[in-house]
Amino acid sequence: MYDALVIGGGIMGCTTALHLARGGMRVAVIERRGLCMEASGVNAGTLSLQIKRKELMPYALKGWELWKTASDWLGDGVGFHQLGGLTLAFTDDEAELLENKMRERAEAGAPIEFVHRDRAREIEPGLSNHPVLASFCPLDGYAQSNEIGRAYRAALIGAGVQVFERSTVSSIEKIGANFAVTFGGNTKQARRLTLAGGAWLGRLGALLGVELPVEYRVNQVSVTERIRPILRTIIGVVSDPLSTKEGPALGTSLVGTLTLKQSSNGTVLIGGGWQGIGDLDRGGYQIRPEYLIGNLRQAHYAIPALADARVARTWCGVEGHVPDFMPLAGPIPGVENAFVVGCCRGGFTIGPYLGRILAQRILGQEPEMPLFDPGRFAPAPLVDSVGAGRP
Ligand SMILES: Cc1cc2nc3c(=O)[nH]c(=O)nc-3n(C[C@H](O)[C@H](O)[C@H](O)COP(=O)(O)OP(=O)(O)OC[C@H]3O[C@@H](n4cnc5c(N)ncnc54)[C@H](O)[C@@H]3O)c2cc1C
Repeated sequence: MYDALVIGGGIMGCTTALHLARGGMRVAVIERRGLCMEASGVNAGTLSLQIKRKELMPYALKGWELWKTASDWLGDGVGFHQLGGLTLAFTDDEAELLENKMRERAEAGAPIEFVHRDRAREIEPGLSNHPVLASFCPLDGYAQSNEIGRAYRAALIGAGVQVFERSTVSSIEKIGANFAVTFGGNTKQARRLTLAGGAWLGRLGALLGVELPVEYRVNQVSVTERIRPILRTIIGVVSDPLSTKEGPALGTSLVGTLTLKQSSNGTVLIGGGWQGIGDLDRGGYQIRPEYLIGNLRQAHYAIPALADARVARTWCGVEGHVPDFMPLAGPIPGVENAFVVGCCRGGFTIGPYLGRILAQRILGQEPEMPLFDPGRFAPAPLVDSVGAGRP
């Protein structure tokens, strides 16, 4: 019998479990694959405050701080680097969009300033002469997402958490006050349950008999071979990622999403949310070549030296979201002692903090910052035939 079971061993589930164990609970994490092998381990690793929604900025600043101090609470080897980041506008319309967005984000607490082309090229000598305006945030950086599974495994085991990997949860039952969770031939019971299944949260909710309106996107990321140093900063371009579900269309212009950075080993990571094809049931992902080319063209338009770089690998990862694109983090309405965490845009940056404040709530403490009520999507209460309950 455990005090808490966590289903899903991505960044959200692992962080929640870690803090619960450090808070004195007996905890197990149950993960279908290996720890941080889905979104949490295949993402672009960008810790950019410039691409966070203003409503989430206080959480992003806390998440950034946690990455910076990861050696204190998670362990070594996550490769945090603070490089500073530039977000570029190539046209006057984009410059206006950039001004509006970054002003909001600066008001929300991110240290962002506007810089004109010449200053931007001093900060990043590899930049093309196409940008008309840029914004700069000295805090932007990255961490090595492909290393974090190893770091979390060591931290969880060190904190006494039992970790079940290659273990797919197939049923959840309520037996009295306990949850009985079945995976493979195993059933484990606990007083408290946290669903942290990323893009699969809708399916996990269904096992518990609750509806979580989770959809997903399939993001493409590419990495080049090792090349000479051509980049000092994190590069992005201004765009509205919520404007289309499919990602930027090829041929419309070079406007779209971009994140670009060179790792200390010389490889350049090119991402930004261009959409591949994936299927949660089948488990496979497929690159869309036309979007890969669009993403590469956009990167090259910003940093001309990329013309010399060959792409070594392109892959996809799946990211869950709910209709308002805000996180789920809190108690599941109607099921006592059941909680959910996930569906956070920029969840690599913010995830460690969301897991921490959810764990505070589960431990019976007041979370440092407000949680994100998963009950906000519940259907409106039914009204009776004479209209009782109507406003
Ligand atoms: C390609 C890509 C690039 C991204 N780039 C960035 C970025 O640069 N910066 C940033 O801040 N954010 C980025 N993100 C977002 C970020 O990676 C995610 O928000 C975050 O990792 C989500 O963490 P999670 O723990 O909720 O989900 P996941 O990491 O997906 O973890 C959920 C886990 O639940 C497990 N699971 C599901 N069903 C079951 C079951 N039945 N039984 C047991 N286990 C189950 C899965 O196997 C999975 O490991 C990116 C996302 C993607 C996909």
